[in-house]
Amino acid sequence: AKGDGRGVARLFEREMDARMQERRRLEIDLRAALENGDIEVSYQPIVDIESNKVRCFEALARWHHAERGQIPPDVFIPLAEEIGLIDKIGAHVLSRACTDAATWPETIRVAVNLSPAQFATEALVDDVEETLIRTGLTPDRLELEITETALLNQTDTTLTILARLRHFGVRIAMDDFGTGYSSLAYLRKFPFDKIKIDRSFISELEGNDESQAIVRAIIGLGSSLGIATTAEGVETSDQLAKLRAEGCQEVQGWLFSKAVPANQITLLLKAIEHW
Ligand code: C2E
Ligand code: CA
Ligand code: CA
Ligand code: CA
Repeated sequence: AKGDGRGVARLFEREMDARMQERRRLEIDLRAALENGDIEVSYQPIVDIESNKVRCFEALARWHHAERGQIPPDVFIPLAEEIGLIDKIGAHVLSRACTDAATWPETIRVAVNLSPAQFATEALVDDVEETLIRTGLTPDRLELEITETALLNQTDTTLTILARLRHFGVRIAMDDFGTGYSSLAYLRKFPFDKIKIDRSFISELEGNDESQAIVRAIIGLGSSLGIATTAEGVETSDQLAKLRAEGCQEVQGWLFSKAVPANQITLLLKAIEHW
């Protein structure tokens, strides 16, 4: 009856209110976390498939919330994008990553994720240059990971930014390759230094012939274009064996290590050395 409908509507409204409040609270907490230095950076090794040597560490943002514990970047990065905080978080992660990487062996690079929103203006390029100069990290030791979404609303600004970064000597990687609609088209438009094969293909390597065919094709494409390929989300030695057989150059995943705080990197490097 009518009364029931109103009841449901009221319930729905209350639910929406609760969600809005929840979001608003998280937003306030995120701003505070950034101010207080509670957004930290962990590092996951990217390993050369032949030599087992660590080539790179991917910087991954971490937020430990006092009451709620760990909040995943899949939650707070999109929130930061919505509320216009991503430039600040991005700059913070970049600064930490370059500062930390400057203390590592010179053969090891650092990879930093960029949000599509960071491509709005060329300010990004100045920020990268300033950070490299300040931290003393040489440009060829910095790799910037971008997804296809960053190129989707591609403007002249996007292309100018990428060209300027590359001219400066920074390396550019295409992240989550194969998940978008036009990864191939973008490879042609812009010379990437690296392709990261999305985890979804790697996790289906065992027992899914289509995924295996796609992984093989991506590695082949990379090698004919002279672009190195990294497989993401490698969890089993069977996946590793398949990737090695296909000629993939670099691997990243829990089989080697999860992301670790900066102060554990020296230990981790020693452990990987002795595998
Ligand atoms: P991504 O760039 O694709 O990063 C790889 C994600 O896969 C990370 O999740 C990593 O912890 C996870 N991963 C690595 N190896 C394995 C594995 O073997 N198995 C499984 N199941 N997962 C694995 P994380 O750290 O939760 O980050 C999620 C996403 O959040 C990232 O995906 C990236 O898109 C975004 N993100 C993280 N940090 C930043 C940042 O500083 N800036 C921006 N713009 N985005 C970030
Ligand atoms: Ca990434
Ligand atoms: Ca990825
Ligand atoms: Ca991703």
